Amino acid sequence: MNYFSLNNREHTSNFENAVVRGLAPDKGLYFPDKIKKLPASFFQNIGNLDRTEISFEAIKAYVGDEIPDSALIDIINETVDFEFPIVDVKKNIGSLELFHGPTLAFKDVGARFMAGSLGYFIKKGNLGKITVLVATSGDTGGAVANGFLGIEGIDVVILYPKAKVSEIQEKQLTTLGQNITALEVDGNFDDCQAMVKKAFLDSEITDHRKLTSANSINVARWLPQMFYYFFAYKQLKEIDKKLVFSVPSGNFGNICAGLLAREMGLPIDHFVASNNANDTVTNYLETEEYNPKPSVQTISNAMDVGDPSNFVRVLKLFKDKHANLKEHFSAYSFDDEKTKQAIKEVYSETKYVMDPHGAVGYLGLKKFLESNPEYHGTFLETAHPVKFLETVEAAIKKKVEIPDSIKGLMDKQKKSLQISNYDELKNYLLQ
Ligand SMILES: *Cc1c(COP(=O)(O)O)cnc(C)c1O
Repeated sequence: MNYFSLNNREHTSNFENAVVRGLAPDKGLYFPDKIKKLPASFFQNIGNLDRTEISFEAIKAYVGDEIPDSALIDIINETVDFEFPIVDVKKNIGSLELFHGPTLAFKDVGARFMAGSLGYFIKKGNLGKITVLVATSGDTGGAVANGFLGIEGIDVVILYPKAKVSEIQEKQLTTLGQNITALEVDGNFDDCQAMVKKAFLDSEITDHRKLTSANSINVARWLPQMFYYFFAYKQLKEIDKKLVFSVPSGNFGNICAGLLAREMGLPIDHFVASNNANDTVTNYLETEEYNPKPSVQTISNAMDVGDPSNFVRVLKLFKDKHANLKEHFSAYSFDDEKTKQAIKEVYSETKYVMDPHGAVGYLGLKKFLESNPEYHGTFLETAHPVKFLETVEAAIKKKVEIPDSIKGLMDKQKKSLQISNYDELKNYLLQ
């Protein structure tokens, strides 16, 4: 199976190289050369398949023979060893809970699959040591740290903005030790991101260590996110209505994986990209003009992205035609006030507790269903409400129950290195 760069179709790559490099040499995102159509029998029979069997069918074509079946199955088993339930919230609205993994957010799926794949290639080959360098606004760091913990041949360096991630998020990335280092940056997320980008282009560093990224640009993080759309369909199959999914979106990797599943034959008719005040894509759908802008800070901070990297992949899936896109894709934006209101209302009506990201997804779904009542809707609940404790407790005026796995975490000792500029990062990486 080959990938090509979205900047230039001539730049191709196999799976291994795409995983190790992250971005193509021309800075384009890798995209699969062929999109595998799954047979109708697969969807008819999906009720009899377990999570590993479904995931294997879905991803096999994109990995090719580069990871043998038995090793691929081991990686998948570790990736999806938790539940992905749909909980009915209201008539016609369900919540696909993606937070039952170790760091309580959906990013565990992509991070674990990428760690497994990269770990496999390192063990097998002559890649040498690799450093995963990543900036996080909150959830990516924890998922990546957890996914790569203890994997032979990989060091992980995570930059996060001081005092701008929640307490739980900070503990998740600063308490693991081993091959994981947390750098606490005196600045905001954009500063962290800028330093990481600069490091990737700094030959003094890249001559000294092999760097790769672990955000959803990487195909090994992006593609496995399609698994849970198939798991969801297995639970929705008997519903006699058209299906719509609403995905709280930031960098658009998650929704893009759903759209890929749809392209492979998954019977989901429509996707809603639900956004916070960062409304670049919402505006694009209205105006056909793509105007990226600096991100603004919101209470759904994992979606504070002003220029979503994966949107070029979304466009590619719709053959770069705006008319195609509009038929199966909508986008809406909601501010923090509306988001808090939704958390409060849904809790008082149903006792269901949503986190701020899921709440944006809920709002987008509700808006779509108002004018499209012939659909059954599912929104993706991308993080556990406990990760955004203060916001959620203020909205519902009640304490949120803390899962046992988190209680232990809060007692652990934070370990981070403080940095305030690029040279300090560089010195660290050159050690
Ligand atoms: C990362 C994240 C998102 C956004 O996902 P994208 O794939 O970047 O669109 C939404 N919700 C939560 C909780 C996240 O951590």
